[in-house]
Amino acid sequence: MAELQLRGINKSFGAVKVIHDIDLDIANGEFVVFVGPSGCGKSTLLRTISGLEEPSSGQVLIGGEDVTDFDPSERGVAMVFQSYALYPHMTVEQNLGFGLRMGGMPREQVSERVLEAARVLELTDLLERKPRQLSGGQRQRVAIGRAIVRQPKAFLFDEPLSNLDAELRVQMRIEIAKLHQQLGSTMVYVTHDQVEAMTLADRIVVLRAGRIEQQGSPIELYDNPDNRFVAGFIGSPR
Ligand code: ADP
Ligand code: MG
Repeated sequence: MAELQLRGINKSFGAVKVIHDIDLDIANGEFVVFVGPSGCGKSTLLRTISGLEEPSSGQVLIGGEDVTDFDPSERGVAMVFQSYALYPHMTVEQNLGFGLRMGGMPREQVSERVLEAARVLELTDLLERKPRQLSGGQRQRVAIGRAIVRQPKAFLFDEPLSNLDAELRVQMRIEIAKLHQQLGSTMVYVTHDQVEAMTLADRIVVLRAGRIEQQGSPIELYDNPDNRFVAGFIGSPR
């Protein structure tokens, strides 16, 4: 059974329809990347999975359960935001544990989860620092750590590397691939970076004006793009 299922998802903002009847099944442990031009609906679709947007019609299922009417906090999925969403006045340790503490988790259990996430992300030596004392890549790792501590069924990333410089993007891309290997979690990742899509994805979903234009493994799309639009996004020579 698919971990994440989108069934006939439509979304309008006022009179403007931005998502058109999207059906998508994402398997447990699969790494799916959404690509497409700015404004094609990538973030809206991701936010529909997380519950930050409510679809105009259609259903979202997580682990087989219809969560369409659930709040984001009840869905068991975690959004990874860009690193500037860290709390500047809190240490790394406090940033990592904040959401769990607010949810009422006992202190010792929070501490266990924070230490485990810090170990996975190699942040153990930085736990007492404030965000301003971290590099861009370290901050981004803390932002990912805040999702890891929740032990979510799926991770949802919305262009998590877009405000990092080129060198850090490469490093963080490798980190995210390692994380997927280690945790084996379902991941949905939005980017407009071809290299990120090609190297991270088990499956790439190319979106165009709120519809799925084509989907397949990186190699399938690269070798057999249906049209110039897809070729342009995947970087196929044609
Ligand atoms: P992408 O992430 O692919 O760049 P988005 O999902 O952010 O695209 O946006 C898709 C379309 O929906 C765009 O035309 C955008 O302007 C519009 N849109 C997104 N969010 C809102 C909103 N809250 N209110 C009105 N229009 C929105
Ligand atoms: Mg977006």
